[in-house]
Amino acid sequence: MTFEEIKALDEQYVMHSYGRFPVALDHGTGATLWDVDGREYIDFTAGIGVTSLGHGDEGWLKAVTAQAVKLGHISNLFYTEPYAKAAQKLCSRTRMSNVMFGNSGAEANEAMIKLARKWSYDKYGKGRGTIITLHNSFHGRTITTLAATGQDKFHDYFFPFTEGFRYADANDLDSLEAVAGHDVCAVMVELIQGEGGVLPLDKEFVQKTAALCAKRDWLLLIDEVQTGVGRTGTLFAFQQYQIQPDAVSFAKGIAGGLPFGGVMAGEKCRDVFTPGTHGTTFGGNPVAAAAACYVLDTIDTKPFLEAVCEKGRYLCQRIEGMELPCLGKTRGLGLMLGVKVKGDRTNRELAARLIENGLLVLTAGPDLRLLPPLTITREEMDKGLAIMKETLS
Ligand SMILES: *Cc1c(COP(=O)(O)O)cnc(C)c1O
Repeated sequence: MTFEEIKALDEQYVMHSYGRFPVALDHGTGATLWDVDGREYIDFTAGIGVTSLGHGDEGWLKAVTAQAVKLGHISNLFYTEPYAKAAQKLCSRTRMSNVMFGNSGAEANEAMIKLARKWSYDKYGKGRGTIITLHNSFHGRTITTLAATGQDKFHDYFFPFTEGFRYADANDLDSLEAVAGHDVCAVMVELIQGEGGVLPLDKEFVQKTAALCAKRDWLLLIDEVQTGVGRTGTLFAFQQYQIQPDAVSFAKGIAGGLPFGGVMAGEKCRDVFTPGTHGTTFGGNPVAAAAACYVLDTIDTKPFLEAVCEKGRYLCQRIEGMELPCLGKTRGLGLMLGVKVKGDRTNRELAARLIENGLLVLTAGPDLRLLPPLTITREEMDKGLAIMKETLS
């Protein structure tokens, strides 16, 4: 099919809930993609931080196809090996206790919210279900995770939202204490606010928040849906903040492109969910779990994670070095990068121009966001940077 044919079908039969760019992608390898007309693109998006090993990684394909041939799905009523192994790999590498698997980031956060509220209910009874989140955060698109998201623009249309969320300013402990109360059971944060604009939290704020949580017996919940699985240069971003959270959600990059996610619990809340209190049909699907095992084994090595940091530094240094009129400073960790947009053009306009010229990028807040596959090569980065320089000069 041609691009125009695909677009016509999509416009007629798909709900118009996305502002799509006018490209129909067909196939890819590594961080290089081709559209249906054979045009080449360099991928600085990894499908919004999902295809962590790039497109068509050979080991990933082998792991996925081998499991698909054996057993594609069986539900949570039975045990499977990849499921148990993925859980073990996650916990043993993070000093967390156990895992509940789901299929997406929002669902992972729903599970984390339910975990916190039931933990508090079991210990203190009713009336202590409020969770403090941060302004500018993003936690998902279900009714409850929209309520958890600290941005007004997400609190429209879908009333009534789930109650029990209060918002504090990032990097401001006074603001956090100002919304505290006897009804609070947890604080939930992203360590780098992703959709909100690639805004890293200060180490000091995070550590003081962890201390406050310990003092008031609140759970510290970390949303690592975007920052997790090697994206920031450690397996999870919290490992760079010298904290041990009570629960950590993950999704996006965990299975290299298949829908997978979940929540890890620390010792305090390892026994909160009991049979019948939470569940999902697809969660922990063996094919996605086999993919997750392969991704975790590949990413969690010192040379791989060091390379992620090195590539991130290289991109930042080259982008700032171009001194383009419309781009300013870079920020972020590992390969989760934000680039300041300045001048008259919006980030969306710049992204459209870059995509038109063969470089896929993302936006976040008012700026550009780059989440390339963690396996991106120097050659692919240079190609992408050349497109950026030519397009935006
Ligand atoms: C993307 C994202 C989510 C939502 O994940 P979905 O898979 O789209 O449901 C939640 N939290 C953070 C931090 C995210 O980046």
